[in-house]
Amino acid sequence: MRVAIIGAGFSGMLTAYMIEKKGIDVTIFEKQEHIGGHCRTLLGKDSTIELGTVFCFSEHIKELLLELDVAYTERFTYRNFLDEHYSKVEHLSRENVSALTDELMRLEQILKKYSTALNDVNYGQIHEQLMVPLSDFLKDNQLDLISGLLAPHLSSFGFGDICELQTYYAFNIFNMDTIHSFIRGDRLLFVNEGLSEVINKLSQNISDIRYSIEVKNIETIGNQVKVETEYGSDVFDKVLITTKLPKDVIKDDLYNQAMKKIDTNPYITCAYEVENKNIVTTYYKANLGKKEKIQFFHTFRQNNKTTLVAYAYGSVSKELVNNITADIEASGIRVKHLITAKQWYIFPHLKEQNLTQDFYKEILERQQVSNICLIGSLVSRPAISNLYASIKQFVAQTF
Ligand SMILES: Cc1cc2nc3c(=O)[nH]c(=O)nc-3n(C[C@H](O)[C@H](O)[C@H](O)COP(=O)(O)OP(=O)(O)OC[C@H]3O[C@@H](n4cnc5c(N)ncnc54)[C@H](O)[C@@H]3O)c2cc1C
Repeated sequence: MRVAIIGAGFSGMLTAYMIEKKGIDVTIFEKQEHIGGHCRTLLGKDSTIELGTVFCFSEHIKELLLELDVAYTERFTYRNFLDEHYSKVEHLSRENVSALTDELMRLEQILKKYSTALNDVNYGQIHEQLMVPLSDFLKDNQLDLISGLLAPHLSSFGFGDICELQTYYAFNIFNMDTIHSFIRGDRLLFVNEGLSEVINKLSQNISDIRYSIEVKNIETIGNQVKVETEYGSDVFDKVLITTKLPKDVIKDDLYNQAMKKIDTNPYITCAYEVENKNIVTTYYKANLGKKEKIQFFHTFRQNNKTTLVAYAYGSVSKELVNNITADIEASGIRVKHLITAKQWYIFPHLKEQNLTQDFYKEILERQQVSNICLIGSLVSRPAISNLYASIKQFVAQTF
């Protein structure tokens, strides 16, 4: 059997690794000259800077890290919130704690109705009542404190403004366990040498990775699938797609329509060396979900150097980067210099007008009978730990 995987991000690399362990030949096509996709670590003499994935939420991923012998640390992250005048404000006030407890209990009851759909590792059938923006859903259910609690986290992790983000995605991304872990301030898991180490270790077990080769056409021919690149074509028994492809690359109406509908948020990361020594992860409360505005930053110290990584929606431009730098300085931090500014496209999802109740269900059903499958963050919430669970399940069921 020959399997092709399109995209050498975490999803593609992990899938290839797991399939090769079963003795099946895999070829990965990656359009960039480097692997890792949204997992990207910059290395220097005494620095490790995560530009993409920074931390993991849950237990699932530990299984992989142990298997690959990758060192990790779990640590608490303290948070500040700033208002429009760059003054420190509370996230939620102490007086609100008992009202929040009441809202959380009510939310848990409300979400119970949808628990089958929300607890699956993949997206699936969507209940009509979850196909409204999160802000409307929370307002209709008088869950105002939860709204204030979730908005900064959803916005800062690239999922956008809660006035636009569909409730279905929001509660798939942040289920009750994740919400409680934020409130408790649970420890988060960080890979000591950076997420690129995971990608590199996976690559050492994959025999056929093709770099800088963009896939241009994918077509079923009889029982097989032809994959065409600008340099030629090859035939496989199965093709697994991990990334949004341009329209008409996949010669399959259902998948091609899906590619046209899937959207991604333009998002940027700016890394700086800064002077201050004890800076806490900081959210810009007045900017939540706003385009071209800094959302939050986090900092870390290594070998007497403090690095600050800031995030905003939009496309990299001199003006936007200068605005982010100015906001950081207005918060009282002395920026020594910019290390890099990187463009991303994050969170594959469907906008309101394209989302239908059975969109993901149809795709998942199609994969049962087709030799072309959409996997990873195209069909599952895009947190590394969840992608691990989703891909593990896919490989176990398919090979
Ligand atoms: C700034 C940032 C911070 C994040 N922080 C976290 C975090 O803290 N915790 C967490 O769990 N997740 C985080 N994420 C999300 C997480 O990084 C992603 O969901 C995950 O890495 C997605 O991996 P993937 O392999 O599914 O997709 P991708 O990483 O998008 O990989 C897809 C690959 O396909 C390649 N490709 C595209 N088109 C073609 C083509 N035509 N032919 C061949 N190859 C192609 C791309 O070049 C890319 O390498 C973050 C993401 C970003 C951007």
